[in-house]
Amino acid sequence: MSDTATTETLGFQTEVAKLLHLMIHSLYSNKEIFLRELVSNAADASDKLRFESLAHPELLAEDTELGIWIDFDADAHTITLRDNGIGMSRDEVISNLGTIARSGTADFVKNLSGDQQKDSHLIGQFGVGFYSAFVVAKQVDVRTRRAGLAASEGVFWSSQGEGEFSVGTIERAQRGTEIVLHLRDEATEYADGWRLRGIIHKYAEHIGIPVYMLKTQDETQGDDEKGEKEVAWEAINQAAALWTRPRTEISDDEYKAFYKHISHDFSDPATWSHNKVEGKLEYTSLLYIPTRAPFDLFNREAPKGLKLYVQRVFIMDDAEQFLPLYLRFVKGVIDSNDLPLNVSREILQSNPSIETIRSTLTKRVLDMLAKMAESQPESYQSFWDTFGAVLKEGVVEDHGNQEKLASLFRFASSRQADEKQNLSLDTYISQMPADQKAIYYVTAESFQAGRQSPHMEIFRKKDIDVLVMTDRVDEWMMSWLREYQGKSFVHVGKGDLSLDDVSAEDQKKAQETQEAEHGDLLKRLKDALGEQITEAKVSSRLVDSPACLVVAEGDIGLATRQMLEAAGQKLPPSKPRMEVNLDHALIKRMEVETDESRFKALSTVLYGQAALAEGMQLKDPSLFVGQLNQLLAQLLG
Ligand code: ADP
Ligand code: MG
Repeated sequence: MSDTATTETLGFQTEVAKLLHLMIHSLYSNKEIFLRELVSNAADASDKLRFESLAHPELLAEDTELGIWIDFDADAHTITLRDNGIGMSRDEVISNLGTIARSGTADFVKNLSGDQQKDSHLIGQFGVGFYSAFVVAKQVDVRTRRAGLAASEGVFWSSQGEGEFSVGTIERAQRGTEIVLHLRDEATEYADGWRLRGIIHKYAEHIGIPVYMLKTQDETQGDDEKGEKEVAWEAINQAAALWTRPRTEISDDEYKAFYKHISHDFSDPATWSHNKVEGKLEYTSLLYIPTRAPFDLFNREAPKGLKLYVQRVFIMDDAEQFLPLYLRFVKGVIDSNDLPLNVSREILQSNPSIETIRSTLTKRVLDMLAKMAESQPESYQSFWDTFGAVLKEGVVEDHGNQEKLASLFRFASSRQADEKQNLSLDTYISQMPADQKAIYYVTAESFQAGRQSPHMEIFRKKDIDVLVMTDRVDEWMMSWLREYQGKSFVHVGKGDLSLDDVSAEDQKKAQETQEAEHGDLLKRLKDALGEQITEAKVSSRLVDSPACLVVAEGDIGLATRQMLEAAGQKLPPSKPRMEVNLDHALIKRMEVETDESRFKALSTVLYGQAALAEGMQLKDPSLFVGQLNQLLAQLLG
């Protein structure tokens, strides 16, 4: 074993210790994934070696056939996995197998609730990696040597997964990594040839290098007259990278298994698209839409999901240049025949063919989503509920695809009793009365606030559907999305409202007449409310409420403005106007009120309730409450 003089015992990073504990206790019903993770690491190690050997061919030496060898000992209860990939140096072993380097992992672990049921769900989404070995093993021994280092610089690592590990230097003739799992009593079933083959078929069929196991004895005995056990390794997978195979020869299960391999996700993907492009640019892409959001979906810096290969050589993870940011949830592989093998992120940024590939892939994803919306509406709805808010960012990021994107959006409708976002713009348009020209929408803090807002009254009365938007990105998005299918979007609470069933001319005339007739009331209101409003006007939107506040078209909503200002944002100043409902008893009463101080109190109350209905916070709540109580007291006599 290792030279004791060089052996040290080290503690796992706190997060690792926590993760280990959680994993052992939460993955008991899904133990077999340890094999997927370890085979996947061995395949990654071969990818890395192949990549480094492009610049340093001597790293491969005579050992050029890369592979993964799996063996077991049913009596000793062990499983051994060996690869001749890149291997690890002593420092790499300590940091790779003692800490969690993957960005965001530490945060992830901190966010675990301690509730095992909930956390086991999270951990599945996160991907578990090397440490999953401890789900089945009471002890894990690793022997490894980094390609290019001397045989004397081999490393031995061992741990029982309980807080610490030991690491020492060994002689190791072979490059690459060997992992021995000493199975727990309740996991000895895995030291079995059939079992192992079954699991490897399930998870590793698509791996680009061969996975070997020893031929079963029955098969070898026949050839051997002396009855000695002959050792014969045989590849048990196809060893062709999945995306290089023709679509017709790949089963859905294989596509799903490959998705799990590249995404570390436990769940099946919602859908995928596999394409080979030939011509001026040659590349193959395999793109997946997941069913579940990663925990860091809203972190725009988080790693993106595409892996880049050039002529089947793995080049990099997180190849963010190939898809816009708003499609960051897409996972997959792109394999180019044209890019240089030494391509770097910098080269990608300035390479003109990347732009072409990117727009083709973008279109492909949008088409895939459109197809899903049509043929699997339920899956699409769940996709929308999970990723819709991210897709909306595309309206701003990707003008060229606005129309296509908008056709994929789903909204809550004021005609519905619940806030389910399941109405498409096409359906909205198809249900519009013939004389309706615009697409009406309202933005609000909550579905009920939007649906019950005073701005909605005339729409409710006329039974006109209004899209109720409550996502944080909606105000921002709608300031960029002006029309769809030639119909413009109109916010019901902003600007002048001209409903389509009355001609704009007639309406304007009627309003002018009314405003002239009630000019005195409007002027008194403006005087009473002063700088809080720009002006008071007669409303065409109100049915039940006495008054409402209206901002100019294109202006940011009042509640959002307050929220942004509270967060310290500087916005160009803007004030709402007040609109009043001449048919309302309170307004009629105010019109004949001669006591100026009472008129003022009524105006304050009127403004206050209109602001509250907007979802705003009152600047001076005690003044509002005081005036209201005074009026109530007078009323009660
Ligand atoms: P991930 O694969 O997501 O990086 P893992 O926990 O599976 O996370 O592995 C941690 C790290 O350990 C890997 O990134 C790699 O650097 C190293 N490693 C694991 N297995 C091997 C192996 N067979 N050969 C070389 N390095 C390995
Ligand atoms: Mg891994």
